Amino acid sequence: MSGQAKAYRTVDVAIAGGGPAGCATALALRRHAPSLSVALFEKSQYESLRPGEVLPGLARGLLDHLGVWTAFEAQRYRPVFATAVSWGSAALDENHSIYSARGHGWHLDRSAFDALLAAQARVRGVEVFAGAGLTTIEERDGGWRLGLSDGKSLDARFVVDATGRSASVARQLGARMLVLDSLIGFARYFRVPDGREPRTVIEARPEGWWYAAALGGEHVAIVAMTDHDIARQLQLEREGTWQEMLSRTEWVRRLVPAGAAAHAEMARAAGSARLEPACGDAWLAVGDAASAYDPLSSQGIVKALRSGIFAAYAIAERLESGLQTGLDRYSQFVRQSYQAYEQAYGKFYALEQRWADQPFWKRRKHLSWGML
Ligand SMILES: Cc1cc2nc3c(=O)[nH]c(=O)nc-3n(C[C@H](O)[C@H](O)[C@H](O)COP(=O)(O)OP(=O)(O)OC[C@H]3O[C@@H](n4cnc5c(N)ncnc54)[C@H](O)[C@@H]3O)c2cc1C
Repeated sequence: MSGQAKAYRTVDVAIAGGGPAGCATALALRRHAPSLSVALFEKSQYESLRPGEVLPGLARGLLDHLGVWTAFEAQRYRPVFATAVSWGSAALDENHSIYSARGHGWHLDRSAFDALLAAQARVRGVEVFAGAGLTTIEERDGGWRLGLSDGKSLDARFVVDATGRSASVARQLGARMLVLDSLIGFARYFRVPDGREPRTVIEARPEGWWYAAALGGEHVAIVAMTDHDIARQLQLEREGTWQEMLSRTEWVRRLVPAGAAAHAEMARAAGSARLEPACGDAWLAVGDAASAYDPLSSQGIVKALRSGIFAAYAIAERLESGLQTGLDRYSQFVRQSYQAYEQAYGKFYALEQRWADQPFWKRRKHLSWGML
């Protein structure tokens, strides 16, 4: 072979990232603009654990719109009928989904869920390349030449950054992530023989907050959320420290059987951030690449699906009619949604006053929500 990298064929839209946002964009493009060719590149093989287990009932309409509701239902994910929250007081209050017009939510196996969306995109005519990460991007004849981790390259008229919080494509194009905080989650996964707790449990603590979500196959995810520097100071990455902190919770600790050892663990950035700008003439960012929310919101997946749908309308308008208006509207949608989120979360964090002098809570009082 000569020194030249082998090229995939040219496509109209190349999507980097096969999480919920990338897959939703691909599915929505097939639905709204079937004449456009779409390729999706996912760096993983969906083989490892992913955080983000709680899917609110609101997702049903979006999955339906994307044409994947029946396939989702067939997976028989565990329904969640309530969220139990200890926040602002030691008591555990329950919000039951019978009070929600959207109905119950689900606890997901995220790798399986993301892989399901990618498989559905493939069935609908999207070229899906798993195990192929996008590494480089350069402008070429009004479009893009993309370099892939398997050594191949691809030309595309439009590119979508769906790479999650790293926003690695948009950042190569000069966009910046405006970061509000350095929240990080330390998750450990346990086997629970009778899969006992059917609710999501959230509990505020002096160092931050904890949550628990029971997954299918009798597993429970227990996650400690705090700021990066506090975690470092506490040495929260150490199992012994993490277990010690867990033992001080009132409610979350009850979900782990005494003496149980975690069978898996991970640490993930989880802070709030927004990309500026969220799109250019021939690219845009979706999902966490465009704006990342605190997991407290349980809005990350829904936001990812929704942004993929809106993005598809904007891309179709750009490529089929040459108009920029859809992209402007999309950019405004990302900014306004983020502003609404900031206000809601400023208010929610302010409800917890018991540890107002502790760094985690003190910071959130003085965070300049709305001043990015
Ligand atoms: C600890 C924690 C708990 C959370 N809990 C919840 C929850 O309960 N409910 C909820 O709704 N949300 C939750 N979230 C948020 C939720 O996980 C995200 O908002 C959601 O996954 C965003 O989807 P996405 O597709 O934008 O990004 P991601 O899910 O991050 O997907 C990005 C994809 O891009 C791939 N990728 C990355 N770089 C490249 C590249 N260069 N080339 C090709 N592929 C690439 C990745 O492998 C991945 O598949 C949580 C987040 C954290 C950190």
